[in-house]
Amino acid sequence: MIKVEEALQRVEANCIKMPTKQIAIRKALGYVLTNKVISPIDMPPFRQSAMDGYAFIHSIKHQYDIVSTSQAGDHLNLKLKANEAVRIFTGAFVPDNADTVVMQEHVIANKDSILIAVMPSKGTNVRLKGEQIAKDNVVFEAGTLITPAAIGFLASLGITEIEVYKKPKVAILVTGNELVKPGEKLKKGKIYESNSVMLQAALETAGINKTKVYRVKDDLKATKKSLKEILKKYDIVLVSGGISVGDYDFVKEALLHNDVNEHFYKINQKPGKPMFFGSKNGTLVFALPGNPASSLTNFYIYVYPAIRNRIGHSEIHRTKIVRTLNSDVKNDTGKTLFLKARYDETNVTVLEGQSSSMLNTFAVANGLLIVPEDVEVYEKGTLVTVLPID
Ligand code: AMP
Ligand code: MG
Repeated sequence: MIKVEEALQRVEANCIKMPTKQIAIRKALGYVLTNKVISPIDMPPFRQSAMDGYAFIHSIKHQYDIVSTSQAGDHLNLKLKANEAVRIFTGAFVPDNADTVVMQEHVIANKDSILIAVMPSKGTNVRLKGEQIAKDNVVFEAGTLITPAAIGFLASLGITEIEVYKKPKVAILVTGNELVKPGEKLKKGKIYESNSVMLQAALETAGINKTKVYRVKDDLKATKKSLKEILKKYDIVLVSGGISVGDYDFVKEALLHNDVNEHFYKINQKPGKPMFFGSKNGTLVFALPGNPASSLTNFYIYVYPAIRNRIGHSEIHRTKIVRTLNSDVKNDTGKTLFLKARYDETNVTVLEGQSSSMLNTFAVANGLLIVPEDVEVYEKGTLVTVLPID
C-alpha cells in the first residue's frame, strides 16, 4: 500500500503528453498551447480614443475649434493646430499630434467649438499603440489553457489557428452483475448503475466531452476480452468496480493478463483505497473502486491531474484552498482522509455521512477536506486544506 503523495507522483511520472494538432481558435476552448504564441501585430494597432469626446493637443487653453470628425474605422490624416480639436469616438484613430481626449461630458460644446469645463491631464483617454501587446512579443506561453478571453485576445490579434495538444480519448468500462441502467426496471437484488454518468460528467469538468461507456459482467473471460479491445483504442481507460478483493473482482487479473504495467494497487487513503493504476503503450488505466463516492474521490485526486498533464496544462492540480475548520475532526485510521465538506468564504464544515457508498453527501458537498495520514486530530479552528470540487 502506498502513500497518496507517492501515488500522485507515479501517476505524474507515467503521463505522456498527447500528440498535437492545429485547431481553429473558435474550437480551442479547454485546449492547451504546445508552443508560445507571438503577436503578429501591435495591439492596439494605432492610438485609439478610449472615450466619445474631443481630441486635442494638451495645453492650458480651454477653448478649441472643431475642425474634423474621427469615427471608429476612419483614418484621419491631419495635423492639429494648437487651438484645434477633433470630434472623436471610442475606438477611433487619434490624429498623430493630438495627445489627449476630453470626454464629451466634460465640455460645453457649441456648433464649431468647445469649451473644456473639466481639463483632463495630458494623455488621458488615449490608448497607446501596442499597449496590450507589441508586435513580436509573447502573447501566451506554452502550457496556457485556452479560455474564452484568450480566444478573444487571439482573434483581436488576427490569429485564426493555434497548435494544441489533442484531448485524450477516454473509455469507461463498467463492471458488476448487479447493475441496471437507469430507466429500466429495477429487479430484486439489482441497483441502478450510476458511476458511468457520474464519471462522464466529471470528465467534462476536465474538458473531456465525449466518452465511450462499455459494460461487462463479473466474469474473468469477458473482462479480459473487453479490456483487450478497449486498451487498443483509448488514451485513458477508467474501469469501474471489480478491483477489490472479492471472489468476483476480476479486473486486476484481467488487466495484468492484457500486459498492463502495474504502477500501484491500493493507496493509504479513505475512501478510495482499492485502486489500480497502470499503463500500456502510453494508455493510462485507472481501475477505480465501484463504491460511487470512492470512485469520484479518486477521479478528482488522480484522474483529473492525469488528464491535465496529458493535455499539456502547466497547472495539473486543482488549486486547493485554506479554510477554518468548524468542528473537531479525528483520524484514527492512519490513512489520508478525503472528507466531503462544504466551505464558504472563511470556514469549512465536514458533512454527515462519509461512507464510500454514499453519494447523497457528495451531491451536496463543494469540497473535499484533506486530512493527512499522520494527523490524528484537527481541532476546531485549525486552518485546513480543502480541494474544491464542481
Ligand atoms: P465493487 O468495487 O465492484 O466491489 O463495488 C463496490 C460497491 O459499489 C458495490 O456496492 C457495488 O454494487 C457498487 N457499485 C459498483 N459499480 C457501481 C456502479 N457503476 N454504479 C453504482 N454502484 C456501483
Ligand atoms: Mg463489483
